Amino acid sequence: MATPAEARVDLAAIRHNVALLRERAGGAELMAAVKADAYGHGLVPASLAMLEAGAGRLGTAFIQEALDLRAAGVTAPILAWLITPGEPVGEALRAGVEVSASDERLLGEIAEAARATGVTARVHLEADTGMSRGGSPPAAWPGLLRKALELRAEGVVEVVGLWSHFACSDMPGHPSVEAQLDAFEAALKVAEQTGVAGSHVIRHLANSAAVMTLPRAHFDMVRAGIAVYGLSPVPELGDFGLRPAMTLVARLAMVKRVPEGSGVSYGHLYVTGRETTLALVPLGYADGVLRHATDRAEVLAGGRRRRVTGRVCMDQFMIDVGDDPLRAGDEVILFGPGGQGEPTAQEWADTLGTITHEIVTRIGSRVPRVYEGQVT
Ligand SMILES: *Cc1c(COP(=O)(O)O)cnc(C)c1O
Repeated sequence: MATPAEARVDLAAIRHNVALLRERAGGAELMAAVKADAYGHGLVPASLAMLEAGAGRLGTAFIQEALDLRAAGVTAPILAWLITPGEPVGEALRAGVEVSASDERLLGEIAEAARATGVTARVHLEADTGMSRGGSPPAAWPGLLRKALELRAEGVVEVVGLWSHFACSDMPGHPSVEAQLDAFEAALKVAEQTGVAGSHVIRHLANSAAVMTLPRAHFDMVRAGIAVYGLSPVPELGDFGLRPAMTLVARLAMVKRVPEGSGVSYGHLYVTGRETTLALVPLGYADGVLRHATDRAEVLAGGRRRRVTGRVCMDQFMIDVGDDPLRAGDEVILFGPGGQGEPTAQEWADTLGTITHEIVTRIGSRVPRVYEGQVT
């Protein structure tokens, strides 16, 4: 490693996780969610590993993420599900990207782009079944379906998917989960009655947590994100046999002896209790080591756990290593699969009061992603 730090991404772990998810999904097709730079793992290399392992489709939030995959030569089906007025929908259609619509306004914009480009838009319609985020509320759903039918008759739109998203699938037994399932089935029934259904229409609802815990939610396809990266979608239920793909490593920039009573880092939140050795880790909140990790999170250095000592800065933080003989250039593991005694991303998330999604997606662009496990 010639850089201060790197995020090592184990593509073999990603392939293992995809194979495991395919098995858990039964006969349902697997769409891997690769939004936000594949949850910080690197959009293109991670996506290629997933496709190689049998993910049939990729899902992104934004159109640009889908176009980036196309620019890299990815030909698999891609769905972009979060579109804002004025985005390059025509470009997406020309690139063969499927798009999602939740209301008649966006569906109209998609139809305009289809007329302008001469490419029939392949559209997934999203129903709001109780999350109250995106999606068409039940009252607007029949109208959206009728508009889609009109546009289909005109030849500009083809409905290829009907879908929704869970609010609480990571809380097994939460009453909203069954309620959303019932609402989704009701929305599918309305679609059938309106004439927007059939074997070519893919029904999809499940995220990673529902893939693992809720077979009734699998339908024709599942959309898995966090589990593909080896992080548990329901930590209370264990790791499901998933393998964390990312290991975040840094090299100590410097090491020095300081006397008792030395105030460390901004605000002097930590004061040494005796003469000791401090080591400087060249990663900070700009790299995704949240400032909230100050005096809380741990790293593995010199074979032992060390707590983040004093305030996390923009580019760096300190650790107090006592009298241990660490040297500049030595490797520090912030988190990884846990096999060497290092913290896991789950442990960081628990310590910081967040979820692993946030821990891995926040790793900044300054940190190079380095691929292991047979890059193809
Ligand atoms: C991110 C996302 C997913 C994947 O969710 P995980 O909990 O990471 O599996 C699935 N569907 C949609 C619409 C998403 O935004």
